[in-house]
Amino acid sequence: MLLITCPVTRSDELVADRRIRSVVNHPTHVALHVDCPACGAVHVYRTGRRWEATRAARAAQPAAPAHRAQHPVPA
Ligand SMILES: [Zn+2]
Repeated sequence: MLLITCPVTRSDELVADRRIRSVVNHPTHVALHVDCPACGAVHVYRTGRRWEATRAARAAQPAAPAHRAQHPVPA
């Protein structure tokens, strides 16, 4: 399961693993393409320690809502 915030409806949605369309590994993060149960679109969420560190370094700049990363719910 994965908790996401839909950038369209602004609601928090608990998403089943089967709704994760693809997982792409990047050097700094993992990009999850999620089939959103709230609006039906596919959103991309980025997770990962180094991505979080990068975000922390950019804390002075407000992050765009669409780029907001969410942690998966611990199994
Ligand atoms: Zn959505």
